[in-house]
Amino acid sequence: MFKVNENYLKLPGSYLFSTIGKKVAAYKEANPDKSIISLGIGDVTQPLAPKIIESLHSAVDEMGKAETFHGYAPDLGYEFLRNAIADGDYKSHGCDIHADEIFVSDGAKCDSGNIQEIFSIDNKIAVCDPVYPVYVDTNVMAGRTGTYDPSTETWSDVIYMPCTAENDFVPDFPKEEPDIIYLCFPNNPTGTTITKAQLQDWVDYANKIGAVIIYDAAYEAYISEDDVAHSIYECEGARTCAIELRSFSKNAGFTGTRLGFTVVPKDLKAGDVTLHSLWARRHGTKYNGAPYIIQRAGEACYSAEGKAQLKEQVAFYMNNAKIIKEGLKDAGYTVFGGVNAPYIWLQTPDKMPSWDFFDFLLKNANVVGTPGSGFGPSGEGYFRLTAFGSHENTLKAIERIKAL
Ligand SMILES: *Cc1c(COP(=O)(O)O)cnc(C)c1O
Repeated sequence: MFKVNENYLKLPGSYLFSTIGKKVAAYKEANPDKSIISLGIGDVTQPLAPKIIESLHSAVDEMGKAETFHGYAPDLGYEFLRNAIADGDYKSHGCDIHADEIFVSDGAKCDSGNIQEIFSIDNKIAVCDPVYPVYVDTNVMAGRTGTYDPSTETWSDVIYMPCTAENDFVPDFPKEEPDIIYLCFPNNPTGTTITKAQLQDWVDYANKIGAVIIYDAAYEAYISEDDVAHSIYECEGARTCAIELRSFSKNAGFTGTRLGFTVVPKDLKAGDVTLHSLWARRHGTKYNGAPYIIQRAGEACYSAEGKAQLKEQVAFYMNNAKIIKEGLKDAGYTVFGGVNAPYIWLQTPDKMPSWDFFDFLLKNANVVGTPGSGFGPSGEGYFRLTAFGSHENTLKAIERIKAL
């Protein structure tokens, strides 16, 4: 008789987006005449840039001819893409990262979930609170997190690092020593980030205690301030303590096309064992590569034309972010984020619970956002709005909130 992986049964239901969907559907049914604007989406809305489409078309044509057909991709990704990444994302920022330390994949969600399997089950993880849920849930599935306490919504063997207005959304070093530290900057959901000097402190801390940092840089393209690092490898010593995750989803609109990569420097070791060799083995055994046509589309992002078009796309979303942030400030809200990330994190008025504010906004402004408490206990009393909507809808939503 087979048995299931009981770790899966420990996972609390992920009610956040399904509850939002149900509440919105119920409201629409009761109020069919109302037009609802969603600033809750975490997905891009702009189409793929022309240079990317051009590259996709020509790669598709190549696949139709025997002479230029491509079968299985190399395990770690095509050289043309890994070289473009090494030059465009690392060398250009003064980072000592080589093409053979880059592992191309179909996105950062899979990589951020899969990376934990190259570590012992005994490792203790630390996460920011609030947090992108993938890091904790995948460790739950692996059996690394202990028991769940529904009253505090926390796991007994996870170290939580609160990020709130009180600490400027910069996590403090935890009292208990972690083995694996997940950091995501610029951050989803808070839209805030940390300075390069603060990131350097984390790198120094990880090297001192022998921990590894799993650094999610999915929002790197949205950085607008000079003192923010685009890669953790801008920090001295990061080659011996950090893995970096990147995605083409938010900078180039590949959420439906799928492309990402993970950097594992060869200096990152436990004794004699390099994490690079383990991740290479994992990739080789369990993964057969991102599609050729998509890797060609990824390469196009690094061409001069591609870069210019993507810069415009990011600027479009960041203009929405500015409209939201300034509008909310004018309306008297306390707001964070929106400068180096496409997310605005607002404090609910009078410490209203996040879900009450969700209902209030839906009913009175017909605007949908995401309750902060859905991302962790320290998100209670906060609310997330995203800049991924259309310009018109963003303007309209903010006018409605201002008029409340
Ligand atoms: C969107 C996002 C990603 C990217 O996921 P993909 O699988 O590459 O689409 C990774 N991390 C965070 C925090 C995100 O918000």
